[in-house]
Amino acid sequence: MTAQPVTHRADVAIAGGGPVGLTLALALARRGYEVALADGAPPPDKAKPDTRAYFIAHGCWRIFRALGIEDQLLPLAEPVTEVEAEGRVGGISFIAEECSEPALGYMIEAGALASVLYKAVSAEASVKLISGAHILSASFDDPCGVLTLADGAIAAPLVVGCDGRNSLVRRSAGLRFEGHDYEAAAISTTVKLARPHNGAARQIFLPHGPMAVLPLPDDHANLIWTESALVARALAELDERGFELELAKKAGNFLADAKLAGPRVTFPIGLYIAERFDAHRVALAGDAAHVIHPLAGQGLNLGLKDVAALVDVIAEAGHAGLDIGAASALAPYTAWRRADVAATAAAMEGFARTFTSALPVRLAAGAAMAVAGMIPPVRKLFAREAGGDLGELPSLMAR
Ligand SMILES: Cc1cc2nc3c(=O)[nH]c(=O)nc-3n(C[C@H](O)[C@H](O)[C@H](O)COP(=O)(O)OP(=O)(O)OC[C@H]3O[C@@H](n4cnc5c(N)ncnc54)[C@H](O)[C@@H]3O)c2cc1C
Repeated sequence: MTAQPVTHRADVAIAGGGPVGLTLALALARRGYEVALADGAPPPDKAKPDTRAYFIAHGCWRIFRALGIEDQLLPLAEPVTEVEAEGRVGGISFIAEECSEPALGYMIEAGALASVLYKAVSAEASVKLISGAHILSASFDDPCGVLTLADGAIAAPLVVGCDGRNSLVRRSAGLRFEGHDYEAAAISTTVKLARPHNGAARQIFLPHGPMAVLPLPDDHANLIWTESALVARALAELDERGFELELAKKAGNFLADAKLAGPRVTFPIGLYIAERFDAHRVALAGDAAHVIHPLAGQGLNLGLKDVAALVDVIAEAGHAGLDIGAASALAPYTAWRRADVAATAAAMEGFARTFTSALPVRLAAGAAMAVAGMIPPVRKLFAREAGGDLGELPSLMAR
């Protein structure tokens, strides 16, 4: 006998259970909302390994603290106490004390973050978490938006697309995604360092793009190496010894004697922003709304800020007795988030373009960075920006 299709009803339907979708589900559950979330991937313990590790700025880390999962995350995370960025003739560095925090943020492996979030969400009675469920279509009529699955559907007054850069929800809502691909890709992997990292996140600007070495527990580090797409693919396919030799050639003293300690995966790099982050019965958060160059580790941070802002916008509409999926209730969300995202995206675009331009431009930029690095208030501003603590902060990020 074939199972009857089931329609799950909720206050909020979430498409996508990446780090943004899971954080949103947890935050809404804690505010008393009924949530249903569908994700096409299997649960984290059965998923393919994700080689990424995330820098989570201390401002965004407070969201995890507010949601009560910091104690589970801390043993798996590495505090970042210093950031160094080097150009050809100089660089800038800043330390945690410059933003009066014990750490600028924390590095955590993608798989570890997914496991903690998944477990916390699974424990919420008011969340229906459906893994391995591909969403086939999305519609946004009155009184409910609907996500259609192979064996059922989710219906809710508000649908949130947290379904990543190729978001079906965004496309179904007819929201344009404007931007471009860089002709580059990032290789992400884990390396074992020859020397202690002392909590420093380091980045060097090479002619084809930045290389970042981000501290992980036990003197491991996450390596993000940007190259032209063709070269990146070839590097990822080398055997381990061949890759280490190429790395030693390219990175020199910046990363001496590092040994591969994990698989390599390449990621395409692009810059895209949705024209709006909301429409009638729908909102977008995370990579569904914006994709930026990974060079400063800000993509997920922007997504977490989306979550925190959206939760406040929904709660305010709910308290006022409004329909939380109505365009008028959601409009403050785009107003709050899009300008911040556009400013960060423009900064990343500026860095990426400047440091891959002709040598004189790179030299001038490196010199400018070195000069900026000598001015304490400028360093402090960089430190606060990296810490995700600028702008109007939603309640989940309150100090
Ligand atoms: C190399 C690299 C390093 C990075 N490092 C950092 C960093 O240090 N700090 C930082 O802040 N950001 C970083 N980022 C950015 C970060 O990876 C993204 O911003 C983040 O993963 C976005 O999370 P998300 O939940 O919005 O989307 P995703 O992680 O893409 O999750 C989307 C989810 O939606 C599901 N989905 C999609 N379509 C469907 C469908 N039709 N049906 C059902 N489910 C669906 C997918 O299965 C997936 O689980 C990095 C990016 C790269 C490429």
